[in-house]
Amino acid sequence: MELWFTEKHSPGRGLTYQVKQTLYQERSQFQTIDIVETEDFGLVMLLDGVIMVTEKDEFVYHEMLSQPPLFTHPAPREVLIIGGGDCGTLKRVLIHKTVEHVTQVEIDEMVTRVAGMYFPLLTDCTKDPRVDLVFDDGTHYLRNNQDRFDLILIDSTDPVGPAEGLFQRDFYADCQRALKEDGILCIQSESPYIDALREVIVQANRDLRGLFPFVFPYLTPIQTYQAGLWMFQMASNRYNPINPEVGKRIDSMGSAFQFYNRAIHDACFAMPEFIKRMLV
Ligand code: SAM
Repeated sequence: MELWFTEKHSPGRGLTYQVKQTLYQERSQFQTIDIVETEDFGLVMLLDGVIMVTEKDEFVYHEMLSQPPLFTHPAPREVLIIGGGDCGTLKRVLIHKTVEHVTQVEIDEMVTRVAGMYFPLLTDCTKDPRVDLVFDDGTHYLRNNQDRFDLILIDSTDPVGPAEGLFQRDFYADCQRALKEDGILCIQSESPYIDALREVIVQANRDLRGLFPFVFPYLTPIQTYQAGLWMFQMASNRYNPINPEVGKRIDSMGSAFQFYNRAIHDACFAMPEFIKRMLV
């Protein structure tokens, strides 16, 4: 018998894919965690029924959350990741030789443990001596930090449940305080094609513009995330991602990536008219 799973994204739409078998199912203190083997995307991790990571295309999201801000900063040394328990973002941050230390603050230890069982290619990087894993709520952790990080990446779930606080102005203000004076914050910012998420994107943009001198939204296609188009917002105290020096740095890393390159970097900041109007 064929088994098909539909992840509902709004009352009238979703993503449907064929599941071969369920390998793991557990409820942590914060969310349900499922690992399924699929016909087309390999192993998939779902949190509360929503796709987080697929073997086949995880590189797109993880490279696109991490690399545009990492290359925009001329020498990122101290990096903080909030969320990101599967360690896909962490793995891509560690590619950079300038990075001396990465702290990852994930609320749910079970996510990292289960990722270690099914996605060892992502979690292997936790052995790197530059890594500190902290299991705590990112909102709590950030309250006690000041002038410390070159780069903060918010690799969160959707703005419901444990991640709700990661989409609030107060949290972005804590991030601003925890950054060095030339630091960069980059958030995953949901899909602009989902009506219910537009207000989240607009509010985040408004909040970030109120706190940072420069805010650069950018986009990438991701076939397994809601509506196939994903947004990020990079808030910068000083550096502009559209800069020939950034391009030279990207070229110097050759073919370290599966998705990201200099042309993708330059193109991802181009905004369709409907999004420009949305963000006015
Ligand atoms: N790529 C993903 C996406 O957008 O679908 C995000 C992946 S990552 C697994 C998201 C992580 O954020 C989850 O492991 C979740 O436990 C964590 N998280 C949610 N709320 C958090 C909070 N308040 N503090 C720290 N981590 C949080």
